[in-house]
Amino acid sequence: MSLAANRTPPLAGHPVFTDLPETVFESMSRLARQHGAINLGQGFPDGQGPDDVRAAAARALESVSNQYPPMMGLPSLRTAIAAHYRRHQGLDLDPEREVMVTSGATEALAGALMALVRPGDEVVLFEPMYDAYLPLVRRAGGVPRFVTLKPPHFRIEDAALAAVFSERTRLVLLNNPLNPSATVFGADDLGLLAAFCRRFEAIAICDEVWEHVIFDGRRHLPLMALPGMRERTVKIGSAGKIFSLTGWKVGFVMAAEPLMRVLSRAHQFLTFTTPPNLQEAVAYGLGKDDAYFEGMRADLARSRDRLAAGLSRIGFTVLPSAGTYFLTVDLTGLADDDVAFCERIASEHGVAAIPVSAFYAQGSVRNIARFCFAKADDTLDAAVERLAGLFRAA
Ligand code: PMP
Ligand code: GLN
Repeated sequence: MSLAANRTPPLAGHPVFTDLPETVFESMSRLARQHGAINLGQGFPDGQGPDDVRAAAARALESVSNQYPPMMGLPSLRTAIAAHYRRHQGLDLDPEREVMVTSGATEALAGALMALVRPGDEVVLFEPMYDAYLPLVRRAGGVPRFVTLKPPHFRIEDAALAAVFSERTRLVLLNNPLNPSATVFGADDLGLLAAFCRRFEAIAICDEVWEHVIFDGRRHLPLMALPGMRERTVKIGSAGKIFSLTGWKVGFVMAAEPLMRVLSRAHQFLTFTTPPNLQEAVAYGLGKDDAYFEGMRADLARSRDRLAAGLSRIGFTVLPSAGTYFLTVDLTGLADDDVAFCERIASEHGVAAIPVSAFYAQGSVRNIARFCFAKADDTLDAAVERLAGLFRAA
């Protein structure tokens, strides 16, 4: 064997991934493990998810085929998805032509960007943005144009859209409800965005994985339902969030047929398909009655209120949370840098959180930390107790 055969091939210069740090969720979870910290960083519930949905998956593992399901998803699941969105959001989707099952929302996002971005196309991104978005846009050859949403309201403004949209705009990628700010875009914000998409003939990818996790009687408005958006929106959902089973990685994509044809070409070479027993169980779960969805929201809202009250009591400035598993705190006056703050509370106080600056590509916000409240009461109380030390020391 030649010496060259043993040498690591040159890796520098890869356009996107070489210089990318490890995802903040993985680093913070590792830090939590190292320090025995309570992990309120990465967003996952500590419960088991609904028993009947897990039982449906276990049964299906024994009773349905474990060979490749159809590339677009099991027909039972695609029918259930269309019925679910008709019932909950009034959408009219053709399960055969306009619905596809993916391995999590992450695959759906990657596939949509690979399929729809042409090298040099401009893609409008809203900061704070989920950390996967920017590397995927860049890898697809897109040129990001940022709209920066600022705490505490994180609203979309006309002037900000006017500054980034042009005839080069191909795509807009929005997350609603928005992780990590825990805000929900309503008819005003979405109407504004829809008007720009129509005017510049842009396609919108709307990551709506948190659509069911919204509180205080709010209703989710899918971007696809706005005038002129039905034919130009790719809607993305995730069973992981709907059933508090984040490890399942069953996602869905909904789009008009001409878009779906292209999206399916990316999916067939990314994962091709998703485990059939999980698909079968999700098909069952999507048909659950309103009491399940209301109960899930009520439980999470109670946890949100418990953590918010605890953090406020010890001295944090807690920002409102309208949805998701998260609430955020304003660190102004407490720390200059959210990353250093999160490292410090994990290592010295035994609680892990996520620095929200990880969701801002341009470094414009560094004073916000995100906590996940989808945890048992005892866990939340213990975290607050530990964090109280921060203020005693100050
Ligand atoms: N988008 C957003 C905004 C998320 O918060 C998450 C995960 N929490 C995902 C996508 C990924 O979803 P999945 O686990 O289904 O891939
Ligand atoms: N979406 C989850 C969060 O925001 C994390 C997902 C992941 O770890 N990739 O915490």
